[in-house]
Amino acid sequence: MRVVIVGGGMIGMTLAHLLRRRGLEPVVLERMPAGHYVPRGYMLGFQGYEPLEEVGVYDEVRAAGRPIAPRPGADPVAVAVRFGALIEALQRDLPMRNEHTVTGLARDADGRVVGVEVEHAGGAETIEADLVVACDGVGSPTRAMAGLEAEIDPLPEAALSFMSPARADSSFAMAYMSDGSHIGMLSWNEGSAGWRTCAKSGAEAALAPGLDAVKEMWVRLLPASESAVAGLTSIDQVRYSEPALLRCPRWWVPGVVIIGDAAHFFGPETGVSSGIGLGDAHALCEAIVQNRNDPDAACASYETWRAPVVRPYEATDPGRQRIMMAGQIHPAPGEEWPPAA
Ligand SMILES: Cc1cc2nc3c(=O)[nH]c(=O)nc-3n(C[C@H](O)[C@H](O)[C@H](O)COP(=O)(O)OP(=O)(O)OC[C@H]3O[C@@H](n4cnc5c(N)ncnc54)[C@H](O)[C@@H]3O)c2cc1C
Repeated sequence: MRVVIVGGGMIGMTLAHLLRRRGLEPVVLERMPAGHYVPRGYMLGFQGYEPLEEVGVYDEVRAAGRPIAPRPGADPVAVAVRFGALIEALQRDLPMRNEHTVTGLARDADGRVVGVEVEHAGGAETIEADLVVACDGVGSPTRAMAGLEAEIDPLPEAALSFMSPARADSSFAMAYMSDGSHIGMLSWNEGSAGWRTCAKSGAEAALAPGLDAVKEMWVRLLPASESAVAGLTSIDQVRYSEPALLRCPRWWVPGVVIIGDAAHFFGPETGVSSGIGLGDAHALCEAIVQNRNDPDAACASYETWRAPVVRPYEATDPGRQRIMMAGQIHPAPGEEWPPAA
């Protein structure tokens, strides 16, 4: 089967490695230059261990990170690790066409997708495929071009987050506040990240209280974050965002299947997004190998076996429960952000 993978992020690269281990040679198209990634606070959940073990990078990533909820004689529940440690391990020894942007889908007379239109420094070309796998992230241009519906649910609250170069004393801490929202901290060997829910005030109002106020609030509400917060020296290390949940009723049409963030995105409090995406790659790879001459059968098999794993995570995302509670419960004094005037 000629497989074209759109997007050389974590999930596209994992799928490519897994397929190559089973004798297929997928084409990976990535619009960014080689070696590019956006650093972030990152926790690898247990859901991603098996695919990474099979790729051969799990031990390396585990050794580079810090365990979260360690268990004697067993793997920890998650690993806090420098995001680049995983991405760099996946990029090693993987053929990829960087600076290749997919701009369209090629279709046959019946409307079936039979390839992708690509733009790169040398011009434009069409690459034929029996199956196009969209691993092109939350905004997935391929998903839209394939006509696959995306349900986007903005969370009722915003998120305030930080990235600090300081290593915290513990790898993870999280606490719930009186309105059911939360504040958390994650620390790998080289730095830390924190996040909390806050009012949808817009970035200017959320950052207006200034760095000292942000640090005081974080340490007061989550004392375990003190050593991480101590590394903050500029308000530029603090970010305001308005996260949204994403789910797609269908994951494939003839010739195209979506996996990873292109197919689903969970709330920041779950920490499962990449682990579920890595599991998608593993499951799709198996479905392809078991249906080597029939891409539609591979996609149908993938959806049948993967839905019972992914759909419950989508349905029970804690962000969805707060969508139901929004406006009924209010933060206690001292927990609200930005603080009351
Ligand atoms: C701040 C932050 C913190 C996070 N923390 C965690 C965490 O702690 N734990 C966790 O499990 N998950 C976390 N996530 C989510 C996790 O990072 C993602 O689930 C994971 O990286 C998904 O990878 P992906 O390959 O599906 O998508 P992406 O990483 O978005 O990769 C998509 C790729 O497709 C490429 N692309 C897009 N369009 C085109 C095109 N037209 N042509 C060619 N290439 C294209 C992009 O350049 C990109 O490289 C976090 C995310 C963020 C933003």
